[in-house]
Amino acid sequence: MNPLPVGVIGVGHLGGSHVRKYLDMPEADLAGVWDIDENVREAIPEKYGAKVFDSLDSLLSSVQAVSIVVPSSVHAEVAEVATGKGVHIFVEKPIASDLEAADRIIEAAGKNDLKLQVGHIERFNSAFRSLQKISTGAVKPRFIESHRLAQFNPRGMDVSVILDLMIHDIDLVLKLMDSPLERIDASGVGVISDTVDIVNVRMSFADGAAANITASRISVKQMRKMRLFQKDSYVSMDFIKGETEVFQITDSDKDFAEKGVLKLSDIDLENGKGSKKIGYKKILNDGNDALELELRSFIEAIHSNGKPLVTGEEARDALKIAIHIAEKAG
Ligand code: NAD
Repeated sequence: MNPLPVGVIGVGHLGGSHVRKYLDMPEADLAGVWDIDENVREAIPEKYGAKVFDSLDSLLSSVQAVSIVVPSSVHAEVAEVATGKGVHIFVEKPIASDLEAADRIIEAAGKNDLKLQVGHIERFNSAFRSLQKISTGAVKPRFIESHRLAQFNPRGMDVSVILDLMIHDIDLVLKLMDSPLERIDASGVGVISDTVDIVNVRMSFADGAAANITASRISVKQMRKMRLFQKDSYVSMDFIKGETEVFQITDSDKDFAEKGVLKLSDIDLENGKGSKKIGYKKILNDGNDALELELRSFIEAIHSNGKPLVTGEEARDALKIAIHIAEKAG
C-alpha cells in the first residue's frame, strides 16, 4: 500500500509526538504541519525536520488525513475546515470540550463520508490490549477499581481533571462494561485550581456491576492502574508499566502450564467438596508504542475503509459522562 499523505495541525506538547511518529511510519508520508503560532512554526524545521505550510488551507490541499492536536476548545472549528476539504481526521481526546462541538465534529466527518478517530490512547496501551490475550476466560467485570494519579503540573489546568485525565478511564469502563449506565455518584475537590483537581466517581450499571474510579493531578506519586474483579478471576492492569496480572481460580490446573499460568496454591472446599486451584499469569509489556499503534490503526481504517478503533460516537459517550460528573463533582 502506498504511504498516505498526512499532516499535523497544532504542534505543541503532544502534536510534536504525532509529527515524530508519522515521520517514522512507513504507512504515512508526512507532507507537513500547520500551527497558528508563528513562533511554533519557525521552530519546526530545525526541531523535527518537517515542512511547515504557509496556511491551513495549503496543508489541507496536500494531504488525505490529519491529526488535530490543538486545544480541545478549538477541535470542532479545525475539524470542520479539514473535513470540508475532504480530509480524514484524527482528533485528540477529549473529542471536544462540550457536546454541541462533539456533534459538529461527528456530523462534519459523517456528511463528507470521512474517517474520524479520537485519541483515547489507553485502548492501545499494552496492558489493555493484553485483555485479549487472557486465555483463562472471558473478561466480564462485575466491579472495576481504577486509579489515575498524576503529580502537579501547571499544564492543562484550564480544564478539570475529569476532562483531562479521568476521561481515559471513563472510555475504558464503557468499553469493558456490557450493560447500560444507570447512576453516577461523584465527589470532587479543587485543591489548587478553580476546577476539580481530585475526584472519585462510582458508576453503577443496570446489571448490578459497578466501577469506582479516582483521578487526581495533585498526587505525590504517579499511578495509572485499573483492576477488574469478576467471577473466578482478578485482573490488574498497570498502564505505566504496560503490564497485566491475572489471578484465576479453576477446578483443574491441568492446562495451566500450557497457558503459561503459574499455580500458586490449592483452596480446599468445605465438606470434602474437593479443591479449587489458584493460578497466576503476568503478561509483560509487548514493547509496542501506544501512539504509534493508534496512528497506524487510523491509517489502516482509511486504507481498508473500515471502522476506526475509537469512533466519534464512543468519544462523545465518554465526554457526556465526563461533563455529567463535572456537574455533580464541581
Ligand atoms: P499545547 O497547548 O501544547 O499545543 C497546542 C498547539 O496548538 C499549540 O502549539 C497552539 O499554538 C496550536 N493551536 C492552537 N489553536 C490552533 C488553531 N486554531 N490552529 C492551529 N494550531 C493551533 O496542547 P497539547 O498538550 O499538545 O494538547 C493538544 C490536544 O491534545 C488537546 O486536545 C489535549 O487534550 C490532547 N492531549 C491528549 C493526550 C492524550 O493522552 N491522548 C495528552 C495530552 C494532550
